[in-house]
Amino acid sequence: MKRDRSAQLHEEAMEVILGGVNSPSRSFKAVGGGAPVTMERAQGAYFWDVDGNRYIDYLAAYGPIITGHAHPHITKAITEAAANGTLYGTPTPWEIQFARMIREAIPSMERIRFNNSGTEAVMTCIRVARAYTGRVKIIKFAGCYHGHSDLVLVAAGSGPSTLGIPDSAGIPQSIANEVITVPYNDIDAFAEAIRVWGHETACVLVEPIVGNFGIVPPKPGFLEAVNRIAHEAGALVVYDEVITGFRFCYGGAQNLLGVEPDLTALGKIIGGGLPIGAYGGRREIMEQVAPLGPAYQAGTMAGNPASIRAGIACLEVLRQPGVYEEFERLGALLEEGIRRAADTHGITVQVNRVKGALAVYFTDRPVTDYASAQAADGEMFARFFRLMLDEGICLAPSKYEAWFITTAHTEDDIRVTVAAVDRAFAALAK
Ligand code: PLP
Repeated sequence: MKRDRSAQLHEEAMEVILGGVNSPSRSFKAVGGGAPVTMERAQGAYFWDVDGNRYIDYLAAYGPIITGHAHPHITKAITEAAANGTLYGTPTPWEIQFARMIREAIPSMERIRFNNSGTEAVMTCIRVARAYTGRVKIIKFAGCYHGHSDLVLVAAGSGPSTLGIPDSAGIPQSIANEVITVPYNDIDAFAEAIRVWGHETACVLVEPIVGNFGIVPPKPGFLEAVNRIAHEAGALVVYDEVITGFRFCYGGAQNLLGVEPDLTALGKIIGGGLPIGAYGGRREIMEQVAPLGPAYQAGTMAGNPASIRAGIACLEVLRQPGVYEEFERLGALLEEGIRRAADTHGITVQVNRVKGALAVYFTDRPVTDYASAQAADGEMFARFFRLMLDEGICLAPSKYEAWFITTAHTEDDIRVTVAAVDRAFAALAK
């Protein structure tokens, strides 16, 4: 497959856009480097690049595009919003309608605020938790990404009782000192962190199903134990549902799993492809936020009619009967096909899947936490990624990212993808 124009545009981009990309995960650094594919058009489950090649898209823009690209119902909502003015700086009727829709789907979000990104939503949950508890420290789980605010770009220290270390240049050690990171699915490590730091902990940040080192479900009882242990110590539980919100059911992973947090952060899917974030939770906690309370949070673009109306339209599509059943059906077909191809060609893989989201790890160990995801073979993934790209299948360029099926994917797309996986595995086995 020729991608000369992509290569040329990447060189041009490098001259003006830092690193040639507007988000580092878009670069091909994690898959051996070179020019990323520059896309020009997207419709339904497909992408077309600037060289005219077509791809089946499993990137789904890192998650938001759950109804496929340019879904007519969402496009209509955006067009109508644009024709009536994209930004008012005043309340609008649609934000009330949208907040009601979200609260009906995720009842723990008794009061809601919209903002512009998942990063902002999580950042504010932490501020609100600190305001409510009067404590400073946060506990999070290794490998879980919670956006790029200073507060959460912190890596684990050497154990549950040690403080964090900055995971990016430019983040002061003083901020990392307030963050404790423990392995996901390891309740003993979490209990130990709470034993040492519990009395100072404002909140624990949890991805209820991990979507940032592939797809990793919680072990039975893990989330319940996190809730109990955190609450006994007087700490709040914040679910980062930026990836999981409306992905596995019409609601959050919390609704699917039957476990409730104190605060929830949302993003991605709820914007229908436009920028958005939202956070919410128990009323008395949320009442910490200005104008009712002393914790400040604001935003010029927050609740803009375009994002809100796109979000409403997206949820209207997702609440149609059968949507999540179809994700399960197509997801299972894809998973089975990948496993069959792996068996045929003697490739060792783990496939983790929840409904229409899955991850393929080149490792012989089950992936239940970040360490086991890290152990997966990155070079093998890089070769697989490039073989799939040449087959016209667009995956995220990282062994840590999930594949997302959208409502636009068909059984035929899955069949084409499985055939491509089979040929890619055959090539890898040589
Ligand atoms: N939280 C989770 C779980 C995410 O996956 C992401 C982004 O990938 C974020 C927060 C940050 O969201 P955004 O990129 O919209 O700032």
